[in-house]
Amino acid sequence: MLIPVTDRIKMVKAANETGLLVANSLLVEDEQTLLIDAGFGHGNVDTLRDIPVDYLVNSHFHEDHVMFNWLFPRAQLFVPLEDAEGISSRQAYIDWYGFQILDGQSVQDWIFAAFDWREYHTDNLFTEGHKWELGNTTVQALHTPGHTQGHYAFWLEKERVLFAADVALTPTGPWYGNITSDVDDFIASIKRLKALKPQVVVSAHRSLIEKNIDQQFDRYLEVIFEREEKLLAYLQKAHTLEEIAAQKFLYGYQPAEIVQGFFERVHVYTHLRRLRNLGWVEEQNGRYRSTR
Ligand SMILES: [Zn+2]
Ligand SMILES: [Zn+2]
Repeated sequence: MLIPVTDRIKMVKAANETGLLVANSLLVEDEQTLLIDAGFGHGNVDTLRDIPVDYLVNSHFHEDHVMFNWLFPRAQLFVPLEDAEGISSRQAYIDWYGFQILDGQSVQDWIFAAFDWREYHTDNLFTEGHKWELGNTTVQALHTPGHTQGHYAFWLEKERVLFAADVALTPTGPWYGNITSDVDDFIASIKRLKALKPQVVVSAHRSLIEKNIDQQFDRYLEVIFEREEKLLAYLQKAHTLEEIAAQKFLYGYQPAEIVQGFFERVHVYTHLRRLRNLGWVEEQNGRYRSTR
């Protein structure tokens, strides 16, 4: 379903389906047509396949944002420099998720099957500040890492519309469940996007957000620090990563147990890395303890 944001800008509202994560896209129809992300769900395929997309842009390498790239063979595919390998190489994808390091084989198998995962040629790379001039509309790429190393948001300054991708402002909070995710980078990215003072935020996993935008960024950020307080309190006594993950402090909401267990482990792993860098947690023989 297409939801107008302005005359030329539309949100592609993802079509929900069971057992598959889907994501909203942004469509800009001007002298040239640009589509950001292609994980809109099977229910949008018939609507989208007839749109003459000139530029197809991926916000980052995750499967729920690239799944239908193949639907646009005539479009030029643009991918983020820092995330390109995760789109072109199955092995990079596996390594960045950390499936092999943190016991995620079953999740890996599930994703490759459920998302019909494919490798794409990634000839057109973009980096911070890249602009697509589409006629009257300009779309600018903002490197906002943390969720992934090469995560990008997209700013339409004249219209003050922000496609925030997976700085998604979901009530469950920021997602940093790849071993290559980085909590400190995520914090900086949330602050950067808030400072733009957008009039409309299009989230990949919510909808159009037009009200209380400042507060929503603040609340989203706060979730990180609330998780952190729970972690540090629990680590007054030393615990293993597995024991910490069993508490489900960080990411305890995924419906499927097998998926939840793995991503909780990775969230603990990435958050502990931040706390160790800060000197607030120390590790001895695989057990972690708060030093605060
Ligand atoms: Zn993502
Ligand atoms: Zn996503």
